[in-house]
Amino acid sequence: MVKAFLDLPPLAGASGTVRLPGSKSISNRVLLLAGLAEGTTRVHDLLDSDDTRVMLDALRALGCTLQEQGRVLHVTGIGGQLRVHEAKLFLGNAGTAMRPLTAALAVLAATQGGVFELSGVPRMHERPIGDLVDALRPLGCTITDLGTPGYPPLRLSGQAGGRLATGRAIRVRGDVSSQFLTALLLALPLVAQAADVVIEVEGELISKPYIEITLNLLARFGIEVRRDAWRSFTLPAGSRYRTPGDIHVEGDASSASYFIALGAIAADGGAPVRIEGVGLDSIQGDIRFVEAAQAMGADVRGGPGWLSVHRGRWPLQALTLDCNHIPDAAMTLAVMALYADGTTRLTNIASWRVKETDRIAAMAAELRRVGATVTEGADFIEVTPPVTWQAAAIRTYDDHRMAMCLSLAAFNPAGVPVRILEPDCVAKTFPEYFDALLGVAHARPESVPVITVDGPTASGKGTLAAELAAALGYHLLDSGALYRATGLAALEDGVSPDDEAAVARIAATLDLRFDGGRTWLRGREVTDTLREEQAGMMASRVSSLPAVREALHGLQLAFRRAPGLVADGRDMGTVVFPDAELKVFLTASAGERAARRHKQLISKGFPSNIDSLRADLEARDLRDSSRLVAPLKPAQDALLLDNSALSIEESVERVLAWWAARRPFEAVERHPKG
Ligand code: C5P
Repeated sequence: MVKAFLDLPPLAGASGTVRLPGSKSISNRVLLLAGLAEGTTRVHDLLDSDDTRVMLDALRALGCTLQEQGRVLHVTGIGGQLRVHEAKLFLGNAGTAMRPLTAALAVLAATQGGVFELSGVPRMHERPIGDLVDALRPLGCTITDLGTPGYPPLRLSGQAGGRLATGRAIRVRGDVSSQFLTALLLALPLVAQAADVVIEVEGELISKPYIEITLNLLARFGIEVRRDAWRSFTLPAGSRYRTPGDIHVEGDASSASYFIALGAIAADGGAPVRIEGVGLDSIQGDIRFVEAAQAMGADVRGGPGWLSVHRGRWPLQALTLDCNHIPDAAMTLAVMALYADGTTRLTNIASWRVKETDRIAAMAAELRRVGATVTEGADFIEVTPPVTWQAAAIRTYDDHRMAMCLSLAAFNPAGVPVRILEPDCVAKTFPEYFDALLGVAHARPESVPVITVDGPTASGKGTLAAELAAALGYHLLDSGALYRATGLAALEDGVSPDDEAAVARIAATLDLRFDGGRTWLRGREVTDTLREEQAGMMASRVSSLPAVREALHGLQLAFRRAPGLVADGRDMGTVVFPDAELKVFLTASAGERAARRHKQLISKGFPSNIDSLRADLEARDLRDSSRLVAPLKPAQDALLLDNSALSIEESVERVLAWWAARRPFEAVERHPKG
């Protein structure tokens, strides 16, 4: 389900281990090289994200063979010879796919014949590619602008037997994006057979560390580029991509920056935040974020493939830094600046303006929204921490890094929550980011929001609660399942449902596991068994025993974890979570509930009789509402919802509207996704 937003409660500390997903820059370069090479490359720890998926789709369309074997991807390349001469490739918003594929397919079409159209999402069509096109055209590549000149979409075409003018140096600008040079370096070995091919950079080359990754990976594929300062690069005659056989993708150093910052901000309780998958031996330029974080006060240690971070100096030390060498990770410094003792100034970041969004403008706007004072210029940003923190709904501009960066504002000392709009944009490079963050960040239980949904049997509370949890990205507690499982376990052990002490012992040591909508009791899957009427009747009986309710109390409280909880049952709002922010009491007429349960059972293939169902429901209602402990009744501050005449969607919408009214965030118009 696509979430409109994710609310992060105030976070208070961090410790534990994060395993990073593979580097985007390395993944897409390796995929392209493996796709152009002859033979099979076994790619280990590849990043699985939007940007790599478009690259994989493109390789498949070009005739490469891709086979997944466990966590290893086997890529069999085209060996520099086009197998498919016509294709339309959609590359989403992946600059790391658009630029190198443009260069590679332009030279392949010009020499072997073909027609290729490359396009992406609307934002991709606003990201410049003219400097690359200007470098390729004088070579003899035919490149047609299909939209605004200098921007994708593009058509690359040519006739078989075409010759390229590689005799003189190919000139490319290096001061807008280093990806243009990377694209040429990755593609021109295709035509560096008879003689050397020389590439010369015009203007100051930015983001040099990314060029180092390119050179490093080219070397792994058998191509030793000769480099003269950062001005001239020579691909030696006889260049041929040779697969290294196996290649391991490092964890993403830019993604590491969020957890390095996390440690610096919040690992103050003794245990560090440990990061695995990338370490001080990384070939990625963004690893130098470590030095910048240290300069701000982080206590970072590390070795090959790992880092470990504690809070050092606090508050963090404001700094002025030229960030040309860490363009992506520098965004994380702008957010660390919220916790610094003065004004932080990040300079030489003009490339931010041509990324997934105009990142200088976006960062300035969103940092102001939480209360910071921000000054922006053509190529710099200055951030002074908030005097008064605001609970803000953060726009993410379809930019994964905006979402990941601003999530760190949840550690604000004012204890206000942070709303991240359209949080699924993290899928570009780190689909599991929020799970990883909340796996190591801690919130005080009382600051974790809870929505309770109580009501009688078959009122639809389970469905409503599950839908709410999915829409909000919250955890789900089906408390009835705990009573049902206790009843089943008692039945299994031959314990009478009236033997309070014995049943309470079973409840206290209940071995119950929930995962992906399925439930295991004592290692056996009981998802369907739990829903049967017999389990419901047993639950109703054991749940009237005070010692059993007491035994299950702590287990239920443990579900209250960031980012939030939706809990359904009978006494969620009255007994277990009396401080819940929103309490819903859901009802429907007995006739309607019996009809719904009947339909449900029939659809699962269970025999069912509507009259006896109704009699059972009424008996269970009576027992639940007349028992002495935690009887079924609405909490005083509960909102009543009779859903007899409402569809599930209508009920969900109603409750989400109540929820929105209780949150401290302003309403935001959803903007359509590109
Ligand atoms: O909600 P569900 O039908 O799964 O609950 C089964 C039984 O467990 C209910 O009939 C009720 O007796 C008991 N129960 C309870 N308190 C809860 C949840 C369920 O007493 N919070």
